[in-house]
Amino acid sequence: MGTLELDGVTKVFPDGDGGVVAVDDVDIEMRDGEFLVVVGPSGCGKSTTLRMVAGLETISDGEIRLAGQRVNDVKPQHRDIAMVFQSYALYPHMTVKGNMAFGLEESTDLSDEEIETRVADAAETMGIAELLDRKPADLSGGQRQRVALGRAIVRDPEVFLMDEPLSNLDAKLRSEMRTELQRLQDELEVTTMYVTHDQTEAMTMGDRIAILNAGELQQVATPLECYHEPANRFVAGFIGDPSMNFFPVERDDETLVADVFDYPLSASTLDDVGAVTDLTLGVRPEDISLAGDSAGDHTFSTVVEVVEPMGDENTVYLRFADAPEGETFIATVGGLQQVSAGDEITVEIPEETIHLFDGV
Ligand code: ADP
Repeated sequence: MGTLELDGVTKVFPDGDGGVVAVDDVDIEMRDGEFLVVVGPSGCGKSTTLRMVAGLETISDGEIRLAGQRVNDVKPQHRDIAMVFQSYALYPHMTVKGNMAFGLEESTDLSDEEIETRVADAAETMGIAELLDRKPADLSGGQRQRVALGRAIVRDPEVFLMDEPLSNLDAKLRSEMRTELQRLQDELEVTTMYVTHDQTEAMTMGDRIAILNAGELQQVATPLECYHEPANRFVAGFIGDPSMNFFPVERDDETLVADVFDYPLSASTLDDVGAVTDLTLGVRPEDISLAGDSAGDHTFSTVVEVVEPMGDENTVYLRFADAPEGETFIATVGGLQQVSAGDEITVEIPEETIHLFDGV
C-alpha cells in the first residue's frame, strides 16, 4: 500500500547561530493512489519537503512513514519511490533504453529479460517506444520529460515524487503534459507527491492540494475546497487567478465599513463573524457582476480605469466612485459585455460570495 505520512516533519538548515526553519512541523497523510500537489511561493519549503521524503535531505524532527514504515533513516535507494526532476536528470551518454533500465540494473535483481519487458511496457505507456535507441541530445524537451517519467514508471514504485517536472516546457507542451500526467495517474494509480509553484497546475491536477507558506502548512484540501473555503487569507490570495481582492473593513453593528464603501451583512453572516470588529473582506474578481440599473444593498457605483481583453473574458480594473484615482480592484467580466476605460458602472458583490478573514 503506497500510503505516505508526514508527521511533524521539520527541517532546520544550519545558518550562523540559529538556523533557517525551511519546513516547520508539517503533517500530511496521503492515501494509497492519491495525487497530492504541494504548492506555494518560491522558498516556502516545497522542494525540501519532497527531498526529505526522497531521503536526499535529513529530517531535523518528526517522522516520515512510507506504507506504514518509518523511513527517516532509510537510504534513498532503499525507499520504494521514484523521483522525477525539473531538469530530467538523464544520462547524456546513454540511450533512452539505457536511461530507463539503469535504475533497475542497479537496484533490483531482475533478469535482463524482465528488465527489457518492463522498459518496453513503460515506453509504450509513455508513447516513446520508437525513441528507445536515441540519446537524450536527440530528443525534444517534451520527449525528454517522457523518458524521465518512463524511467520512474519502470521501477514500479510505491510513490512517485515530482519536483516541478513541467517547468522547463513551453506553455503548450506544459498543458499537454498536464493532461498526460493525469492520464498516467488514472492508469497507474501510484501515490504521487507533486511540487509546483504554479497554482493552475495545483488546481487542475491535484486530488488534494497542500499549500505551504514560509515552511508552514496552511491547508490540505481538494482544489475546490481551497478555492471556496480558503483556511486563511494567504490561501485565499494564492489560489485563484486573478487573485482575490482584499479590503480592510471595520464592523459597525450590522455593516462592514471600508474607507469608501459600506457593506451590510445579513444575520447569518453576522453570526459567523461573532465579536470580531477588524476584518478583511475578500472578493473574487469572478464573483463581481455588472448590475445594470438595479440598485441594492450590495451594488456599488464604480469607475472603470483599465480593461484588459483576455478573449472570452475581460480583466477590468475598477475603483469605487469615492476612491482616489489608481486605487483599483479587479473584476472579471464576460468578453461580450462591453466596458471601456472611463465608464461609470454599477457592480454587484453578492453576499454569498464574499469571504471574511479576522484582522486587517
Ligand atoms: P521551494 O522549493 O518552496 O522554493 P526550498 O525548499 O528550496 O523552497 O527552500 C526553503 C527554504 O530553505 C528557503 O529559505 C531556502 O533558502 C532554504 N534552503 C533550501 N536548501 C538549503 C540549504 N541546502 N542550505 C540552507 N538553506 C536552504
